[in-house]
Amino acid sequence: MIEAALDPRSQTLPRVLLIHDDGLWLMKTARELRERGFLVTDCNRPEEALDWLEESRPDCAVIDATMSRASGFEVCRKLRTHARGSDLPVLMLVADAGGEAFRLAHEAGASDLWSHNAETPIVAHRIRQMLWVAWLERSAGVTAASARIRGVTPTGRFSWRPESGEVQGDSDLFVLLDRPGDQGVLQHADFLASLEPTDSRRLTVAMNRLLQGGAWNRPEVNLQTLSSGLRRLRIEVQQVVAQPGGGVEVGGRVLDVTPASGAETKVYRLTHYDTLTGLPNRTWLHTRLKSGRGRGEQGFGLAVLDLDRVDEVSEAFGQDVRDRLIIEVAQRLRRLARTSRPQWGQGESSPARIAALAYLGGDGFALLLEDLADPQDAMTVCRNVVAVLGEPLRIGDREVFLNASVGVHIGGESSEDPADWLGRAELARRAAASSGGNRVLMFEPAMSEEATDRLVMERDLYYAIARDEMTMYLQPKFSGRNRRLIGFEALMRWTHQGALRSPGRFIPLAEETGLIGPLGEWAIDQACAAIAAIARTGLNDCPVSVNLSPRQLHDGRLPGVISAALARHRVRPDAFEVELTESGLMQDPEQALAELSAIRSLGVGLAIDDFGTGFSSLAYLTRLPLTALKIDRSFVQEAHCSERSRAVVAAIVGLATNLRLTVVAEGVETESQSQALLALGCDAQQGYLFGKAVPLEQALLMARHAADPMPASEVSGVRAWPQP
Ligand code: C2E
Ligand code: CA
Ligand code: CA
Repeated sequence: MIEAALDPRSQTLPRVLLIHDDGLWLMKTARELRERGFLVTDCNRPEEALDWLEESRPDCAVIDATMSRASGFEVCRKLRTHARGSDLPVLMLVADAGGEAFRLAHEAGASDLWSHNAETPIVAHRIRQMLWVAWLERSAGVTAASARIRGVTPTGRFSWRPESGEVQGDSDLFVLLDRPGDQGVLQHADFLASLEPTDSRRLTVAMNRLLQGGAWNRPEVNLQTLSSGLRRLRIEVQQVVAQPGGGVEVGGRVLDVTPASGAETKVYRLTHYDTLTGLPNRTWLHTRLKSGRGRGEQGFGLAVLDLDRVDEVSEAFGQDVRDRLIIEVAQRLRRLARTSRPQWGQGESSPARIAALAYLGGDGFALLLEDLADPQDAMTVCRNVVAVLGEPLRIGDREVFLNASVGVHIGGESSEDPADWLGRAELARRAAASSGGNRVLMFEPAMSEEATDRLVMERDLYYAIARDEMTMYLQPKFSGRNRRLIGFEALMRWTHQGALRSPGRFIPLAEETGLIGPLGEWAIDQACAAIAAIARTGLNDCPVSVNLSPRQLHDGRLPGVISAALARHRVRPDAFEVELTESGLMQDPEQALAELSAIRSLGVGLAIDDFGTGFSSLAYLTRLPLTALKIDRSFVQEAHCSERSRAVVAAIVGLATNLRLTVVAEGVETESQSQALLALGCDAQQGYLFGKAVPLEQALLMARHAADPMPASEVSGVRAWPQP
């Protein structure tokens, strides 16, 4: 294997272990080397170099001796003491390639040295040169002692007792089987389970034949390894010895015969692996899932992981740093996968483990889970993943924290196609992300329904206005003191497939799809039409407010749309009011400020909705051309019983008074809430106590009776009002 990559005629990509404690240099150099056909494992913690040597099994190493936190020469010396590093070609990059550096590099056992400041193409050339020399030396028999010890082809020895199902092996065997941390004993069935199903069947047939006295045909099997991709192993039987107590022991060896030449391997690598992370890609995952492993079996699962807020990071630090993050995540996942493996021979029942990883592109990764005793096992593994990814990461002199959302799907029903797993895990992942992120969720069938539901709604929402399915309802606002009608809030309703849909469901969808633009314009038009109709009942001074989405604030169209609607319905601007949530305003305060000023200058009112729940700064609030604050329902509902809520309401009323703003309490449901608000100085009130949102005709009835005060005894919501 190692020889294969050293061989300059070889078609496999040489593996380079690149060591430096400067993350940015490492990222840039690794990428440039990858572009030049190397498979690079980058190691930014020199103290972990030996681990990576085991794990990535490089064909050569490049160590930068200009590290600030470690001595490159010391790292090289350490590599040399390790079985895998004793004859590894090592290139040292030094600050100044003078005599002293040469002596140090030579003493540390480096194979070559070059300037740290060299351009990457030159470093790439030195690496090839070094691999070429190593190959020549090896072919000429000028090999280091360890090369003779290890033999030419990586080989591991085993002895297998069919009776007990146990396979014993030397440490090389466990490295070959991609279980480098394990020692001693492996269950034969576990080994078979880690192979492709066809290979597993072939091997079983061959073994049965052997045990019945037949010949051994040296079968070869493919093994998917975490550290170095697909490997081909040849299994040779050297002896079958009868045991004193009955039964036999089969002794032999496993050779790594991964094709050295042949375009096949290279094409496979290029099409099934990602060059940035070195992990298998989506194509590989599909093939793996489709191959049917885990179908109908308990204990298999798939987790899909996506990093949250990576766009913010790349906006702040640039694309290079984003790549660096992805590589770091891949490395952390690899490390987790390695440590999640059961330690054979320790007599434990096998715990859940990460059997394979894949990079899905963008910020997404997939984890194949095995040996799950129950679904909670998968959750535990994944929560651990989220915790490990959450550890801070140094980029230059800054620390970045990564959050991830994970969706998990557990296999089970035999009817289920593992190819669907990805979709299910993905749905769960999206649910995790949209509920705030940095968490793990298990797939539930309701998520499919929810997604289908959304798709149907999305499709139908598009035609909702044209099909006349939208209605504008109006909810009254009252004076708490004299119980008179003082205004309305316009709230949208959608009659979809016979049912009345709540805006809480479809407004976010409209925002995501951009349909909020036309819907919002429709709402403005309807609100103006309502104002005109109310005025025709003879009631003046009864403004109507309309809710706007922050998404509508960014294209500069709003002022024009509002003034056109006012003109169309011949409505006075001071009868029209806009409601915007605090959090919506804070998304792009400067842009919002410009646009709101233009709207305010039309003479229309401007209220902040759900006030108290956002994080707007006072300084910013005073710059906005506001006319009203609406106290959020959460404070209103406890105004009569909670000291804290009372304090918040009092503070908002105080603030509004100082800024000369009206204050409206929303969500008033009981008489005691209403009285408590009055006592705190908040007269304008809205809520079920005074009436729910109703269609225009009903609102007009209220307007006609606005002069009659509502008797307090009859205050019990809509029923108090005459029906049309
Ligand atoms: P919002 O602006 O905070 O509207 C108040 C919501 O509270 C309304 O829900 C209203 O029916 C409900 N509500 C009113 N009084 C009470 C009460 O006493 N108790 C309780 N529990 N609830 C009460 P609705 O109509 O479902 O609207 C939900 C949200 O959808 C609105 O919250 C608003 O943000 C948004 N929305 C509604 N219409 C439009 C619209 O035309 N455009 C935009 N962009 N958003 C809208
Ligand atoms: Ca509102
Ligand atoms: Ca509100």
